[in-house]
Formats: sequence, C-alpha cells, structure tokens
Amino acid sequence: MDKERILAKYVPAEAAPIVARWIDYFKCDFKVSKGRNTKFGDYRPPYNGDNHRISVNYNLNPYAFLVTTVHEFAHLQTWNEYKGGARPHGLEWKLNFKKMMRPFFEKEVFPADLKHAINSYLENPAASSCSDLNLFRALKRYDQQSQGVAVESLAMKTVFMLKDGRTFRKDELVRKRFKCMEINTRRIYLFSPLAEVFPVSGD
Ligand SMILES: [Zn+2]
Repeated sequence: MDKERILAKYVPAEAAPIVARWIDYFKCDFKVSKGRNTKFGDYRPPYNGDNHRISVNYNLNPYAFLVTTVHEFAHLQTWNEYKGGARPHGLEWKLNFKKMMRPFFEKEVFPADLKHAINSYLENPAASSCSDLNLFRALKRYDQQSQGVAVESLAMKTVFMLKDGRTFRKDELVRKRFKCMEINTRRIYLFSPLAEVFPVSGD
C-alpha cells in the first residue's frame, strides 16, 4: 500500500509526504509499533548491512506521532554524520532535530500552542530527553482527539474533523453511506457509517 496514505493515518496529512520521502531517502525500515509505556519511539542504527530502523507507537495523537518521528529521524541523521561519536541527545542531535522540524513549521502543520512548546524545547539547552515534560504536556492536550465516534452516530449537519485536521459537514444518507461536504474545499465525500471522526462542537 502507498506509504504516504498509511502515514496520513498517524501524522497530520501535510506531514505525510515529507516523512514518506525521508523513509525512502534514508533507506529506513519504519514501523508503527504497539504502544509501549517506556518510550514513544525508537531508533536502531544499521548494523550488519541492515537498514536504519525506526519505530513509533501507534497510539500517539498525530502531533505527538510526528514530533516523535522527527526526534527519531534526528537520531538517524546524527548517526549518519557521527556514527557513535555523538551523545544521544547532545548538541549534534539537537541541531538535526531543529533542522528537520523546519519543513513542518513552514507548512504550518502545528497549532500555535504546540509550535511554541516545540520552539522553547528546541531553545532550551537543558531539555534533552525523549520526553521533555513541558512539550509532553502540550502534546498531551491533543490526546482526546484519539477518541472518535462513528459518523452514523452524529446528527445531520454536524461538523466533524478527521485525524488529519480536515473538517466536514454530515449532509445526507445516500444508500448506505453518508454524503459529507469538506468545509474548506466544498467538495463532497462519501463516508462509511462506521468511519471514526471527531465532532467539532458548534457552540
Ligand atoms: Zn531520543
């Protein structure tokens, strides 16, 4: 299946093509892994002719998934440049994290509060662990988005959001599917009654 489409289930839609390109460019085995309590993601350097390996927990919200992905790719890039010669979250890693975060800032992938939290994380020389608390808290605020409901359970004319942030209005039942209009483009899409979506409260 198409990498970009799979990735768009986990990261904000505009971010998916960039991550897909990195996976190819760096020849990385990228795996969506089951939820681990001890870590969000993992990077393994390419030993014995293997590829680089990155895994990220499936149960992160799209922003946390993306930040974790960039975090791990910064480990990969640092390994490419220094092999074992740089500390895991040292200055070299930090500069790469910053650089690799840039395309997502340019595409305005993050809401303002997260952009701010990520920036202060990047500016703070003491913040170096995989789970800096302030950034973690800011990301956590978006967790409720992962509890979606089925389209069929919404009232007609309800506005809802997909995981990638696109918003739609539920308009009518056509045969067994729901006709919904994307708010931004006014284009019509047909949704399975069981599609998982996130109602946007109108008031
Ligand atoms: Zn790390």
